[in-house]
Formats: sequence, C-alpha cells, structure tokens
Amino acid sequence: MTVHKKAVILFCFFVVNSAAWGVVAMTTGFGAWVLVPVLAVFLYFAVSSMSLRCPRCGKSIYLKTVRLFGTGWTYTGGFPETRCSRCGFQLNRATEPL
Ligand SMILES: [Zn+2]
Repeated sequence: MTVHKKAVILFCFFVVNSAAWGVVAMTTGFGAWVLVPVLAVFLYFAVSSMSLRCPRCGKSIYLKTVRLFGTGWTYTGGFPETRCSRCGFQLNRATEPL
C-alpha cells in the first residue's frame, strides 16, 4: 500500500467519523459527552497523520508548500498530496515500506 493511499483512507475515515458524530449530536441534542469521541477521533487522526511521511525525505505528506507572492508558504491540513512538495517523490506510486 502506498503512503498516499493510506493517507486517503485515513482522511476518509476521519470525515465519515466526524459526519457520523455530527449526526449523532444533531439527533440527540448537543451534549458535552459528544465531544469526547469527536476529540478522541481528532487526536487519533492527528497522531496518525504525523506518522505518514515521505519515505525519501521524511516530510509530512499533509505539510504543503505553495509559492505565493514570491515567497514559499507552508501549511498543514486538507487532502494529502500525491507528490512530495519537497523532494518530488511520487507518494501515490511508490510502495516503499514506511
Ligand atoms: Zn519527500
């Protein structure tokens, strides 16, 4: 399995889980207890996403660099990148073990 595929699965899992808990919260009324599983999922996602790195240079695949106004801007989050923005490694093709 490629690093990108893993990241996409993790991302989908996170979205589906968040949506599911959103529905639960809406149908049962917002209670403080709803925040516990949501927070747990969020923490799990944060830890898992940190472990998903480029096999070649070790950069997190959620960390992206865009060039804007002549400067490089780095941001985290959103959909995982298919190609490492630092070294150009094909994250959706390589099957190197992590
Ligand atoms: Zn890289």
